[in-house]
Amino acid sequence: MSDEKKIVIVPCSGIGKTYGTVSREAAYDVVEDLRPDESRLVPLSMLVLGDEGARAAVDGSQAITIDGCKLACATKMVRDSGGTVAKDYAVLDAYRRHKAFKPAGIAELNEGGMQLAHALAEEIAAEIDMMKGSQFTDFADSSIKSAKSVDTTSGEADNA
Ligand code: SF4
Repeated sequence: MSDEKKIVIVPCSGIGKTYGTVSREAAYDVVEDLRPDESRLVPLSMLVLGDEGARAAVDGSQAITIDGCKLACATKMVRDSGGTVAKDYAVLDAYRRHKAFKPAGIAELNEGGMQLAHALAEEIAAEIDMMKGSQFTDFADSSIKSAKSVDTTSGEADNA
């Protein structure tokens, strides 16, 4: 799949915060291991710096954001860059869904943090599948509609 058609994943850049590290680990897991053909990562820091390539990647694209706290920097920055946030994840909410995985550590996450990142990455991968599936369904629907409209036209032509 060309890069332009991939879903953009933007994790927050919460350097020095455990949840920020979880957001980045989850993003790497998605783009490198779980859905490398359907997704690509755009670093929040590049958007904040106004990097043209990063802004162009987000502009007009469907994006999934992962935020480390309620300031939601990744979500806000994607919107400010012209992107559409198809789904926004918050690490705290992910932790509430997966209480067994208690994250700790900053530069290096503990086992719980890595497990939480992976659980979140699996949720995001499933979301990507749904987004891609609905794109295919939309396409199939429009193909059926246009086929029907061709039939109708030819029917009218036959009746004429
Ligand atoms: S969302 Fe929160 S943790 Fe992430 S970069 Fe912004 S302030 Fe930092």
